[in-house]
Amino acid sequence: MITFYPGPSKVYPQVERFMSEAFQSGLLSVNHRSEPFMQMLGKTITDLKHKLHIPQEYEIYFTSSATECWEMIAQSLVIRSGFHLYNGAFGAKWLEYAQKLRPESKGQAFHFDTIPDETTLPGIGTHDLICITHSETSNGTFIPGSFMQMIRKRSDQIIAVDATSSMAGVELPWSLADVWFASVQKCFGLPSGMGLMAVSPSAVERMKVCGDRAHYNSLLFVRENFLKNQTPYTPNVLGIYLLGRIMNEVNAIDVVAKDISDRAEAFYSFLITNDFLPLVTTREVRSKTVFAIKIEKASLPDLKSNAALAGITLGNGYGDWKDQSFRIANFPAISSHDFSVLKDFLTENRSVRK
Ligand SMILES: *Cc1c(COP(=O)(O)O)cnc(C)c1O
Repeated sequence: MITFYPGPSKVYPQVERFMSEAFQSGLLSVNHRSEPFMQMLGKTITDLKHKLHIPQEYEIYFTSSATECWEMIAQSLVIRSGFHLYNGAFGAKWLEYAQKLRPESKGQAFHFDTIPDETTLPGIGTHDLICITHSETSNGTFIPGSFMQMIRKRSDQIIAVDATSSMAGVELPWSLADVWFASVQKCFGLPSGMGLMAVSPSAVERMKVCGDRAHYNSLLFVRENFLKNQTPYTPNVLGIYLLGRIMNEVNAIDVVAKDISDRAEAFYSFLITNDFLPLVTTREVRSKTVFAIKIEKASLPDLKSNAALAGITLGNGYGDWKDQSFRIANFPAISSHDFSVLKDFLTENRSVRK
């Protein structure tokens, strides 16, 4: 089966070998406060920062998931309320989670097929943390870099970005936000069960102002551990090991991002020439890493069953678009051969589309 599911998604083929290496190395049975573990954690973070071009002064913490990061941000970085700008299901869910912890947090929705601009930001100044979803995995949109720049200029508050389905697939404008987080089952091409967070010096200052120490995953406590190459609780040692091995192996992010961007452009053109409609018509906000394609509700089951017969797993639609779209992950672990098989399949199934 070839899978284009946008998470969990195709894992790198090398993962099989790395898992066996992890087993052989004995690391899976060592104490997580021992020297071999601490060295492995330190090297993983060094390689990650190097390959993804993360600024030296940003700190990296590993978490259990992106969902956990939503809560960690609300509990340890929001003083009174956050401002959430969103256009789809993941952004909406983040707001919902944040409001349970910080009830005065507010959300501002914008239409997914528009380029967000200043008019989407009324009242931004009254909140002390701004939350943005960089790649909205549910509808296949991206926040353009120009908009990130505009928010940075408009506000001196801490900016947190959910980059779950774009980190490690595109070059992120790190300095335009203070907290970036993701989980590893998307562009990192790894088995699920781990998240990570990159945190700027301003966000560290904010942690101190908040002073939250009430939770096992309070950021101050997490930070104290990571400064010693340790973790607050027994971590996903295998997950950290696999991340380190993959980061050691992949190309630097500028090279990866160029391939992903070229493949995205080619695929959108392919869709249009073959009469498939991308859900997003505004080119500037189309995601490079997750494609959402519109389809008649009545045609979707046929397309999916034909795909299954052809050995292809398409991503289901998500949220509002569950029955009227399918999604295709354009993550780095998916090969160009996989994409040519997909294109052949879609060409043959043009007639099912309507
Ligand atoms: C997948 C995804 C999440 C949730 O990730 P988990 O690892 O399941 O917590 C959050 N935000 C976005 C944008 C996602 O794509």
